[in-house]
Amino acid sequence: MSALLRIRWAIAPKTAPRPLINCNRCGGSKPYQCSKKFRVNANGKRIDAWLIYRCIDCGNSWNFGILERCNRRDIEPALLQALESNEPALARRHAFDVVALRSRIGRAEEFPDVTIRKQMLGDRPEKTTALELQLELEMPTSLRLERLLAGELGISRSRLQVWEDKRLLVVAPDGATALRRPAREGTMIRIDLAGETDRDAIISAAGG
Ligand SMILES: [Zn+2]
Repeated sequence: MSALLRIRWAIAPKTAPRPLINCNRCGGSKPYQCSKKFRVNANGKRIDAWLIYRCIDCGNSWNFGILERCNRRDIEPALLQALESNEPALARRHAFDVVALRSRIGRAEEFPDVTIRKQMLGDRPEKTTALELQLELEMPTSLRLERLLAGELGISRSRLQVWEDKRLLVVAPDGATALRRPAREGTMIRIDLAGETDRDAIISAAGG
C-alpha cells in the first residue's frame, strides 16, 4: 500500500498572446502587445468596445473588437462599467482568448509560461511514496504536459518517459499521449515514487 499525497496545481498563463500585425508605421509584420486598456465608444444607443494593443517597436495602436455596434439595452450595466474602468480580470480574459484573436488577425505569438499555485489536499503522509497531481487551468495554455511536469518536478523528460514505460506514471483521463499535448483542465497524474532515491526532492518540488 503506497502512501499517496494529493496536490492540486492551479495553473494560470503568464504572458498574453501577441497578435502579429502589419504595422503601417514600422512597415512590416510586428508583434502587438495588449495595453490592458479598453476603449468604449457610445454613438447614440450603439456601443462599441475594443481592447487596445500597441506595436512593441513604435507604439502604434490596434483595436481588438470586443463589442461591435451593440444596443445599449442588450449590455449588462456591470459589463459596461467593467469596460469603462479597464477591469483587469475582464482585460485578462479577452487578452488570453487566442481563438478570438486568431479569428480577427490570423497569426499570434503564444507563450508557454505559466504561474502555478500548489496546494496539498489533506495531510502529507509520513512516508509519502506516491504523488497524485490534479491540474486546474484558469484558461487553456499551449504548454505541453511533459514540459510542465519536467520543469516543475526538476527532472528530465526522458525520465518521465521511463516512468511511463514502467507504468509508474499514469495520466487520466487521456492516457500517456496527453504528455505530448498541452496541459488540460481536469488532468490527473499519478506517480509511484517508491523506488526513487530522490523522491523527497521530487515531492517537495511538487508542492508537498
Ligand atoms: Zn510599429
